[in-house]
Amino acid sequence: MAECERLEKVLERIERACVRAGRDPKEVKLLGASKTVPPERIRTFYECGLKTFGENRVQEFLKKLDKLSDLSIDWHFIGRLQTNKVKYLMGKVSLIHSLDRESLADEIDKRAGKAGKVQDVLIEVNVGGEESKGGVEPEKLRNLFEYALSKENLRVIGLMTIPPYLEDPEEVRPFFAKLRYLKDSLEREFGLELPHLSMGMSHDFEVAVEEGATIVRVGTLLFGERS
Ligand SMILES: *Cc1c(COP(=O)(O)O)cnc(C)c1O
Repeated sequence: MAECERLEKVLERIERACVRAGRDPKEVKLLGASKTVPPERIRTFYECGLKTFGENRVQEFLKKLDKLSDLSIDWHFIGRLQTNKVKYLMGKVSLIHSLDRESLADEIDKRAGKAGKVQDVLIEVNVGGEESKGGVEPEKLRNLFEYALSKENLRVIGLMTIPPYLEDPEEVRPFFAKLRYLKDSLEREFGLELPHLSMGMSHDFEVAVEEGATIVRVGTLLFGERS
């Protein structure tokens, strides 16, 4: 099946990048970034063995969830998140990749508390300082992290970034290295472990793996160009 081959190829490339970096391939999770991908196609990839998918829009996610509720998909939320949409995600996503402000931390904490859950999140960092991108500025990361730590029903388990798009993936390497450095700094300062770095997309995931990614978010390479 073409879909299974596509999946296998991406997994092999992750594995080779791990070998180059002296890492265990089991440390890296492939997430299918499935925005605009119809539910039936997600189902096919699931049957090929891909179990983790990430969606960007709450409405689109809920529709797909409804059609795929018979599958044990591990859903993540990877897009910009409006505070008033948080309630729809509770209990439905294992990880929110895009915590970038205190008001969002407040709302996730509140909603998770009501649901009697602790919600795992990643803090999204705008390592490239691009106006158009979400994520907290690197200079403000420490404060947001400390704020999130004070929230009982929120657990920060790492960092996420969407670096600038640069033709040559090698040029993206410093942005991935920066995210890892920021994570290491927080771990040192606060004396705790942040197991996850969500970084790397279709055109740069191998470099991201070499720089320590534990979750790579791949869309186009798996599902084809978005229309
Ligand atoms: C769409 C998207 C991806 C995947 O991008 P591709 O270039 O298609 O692999 C990864 N992360 C986020 C947050 C996205 O929105």
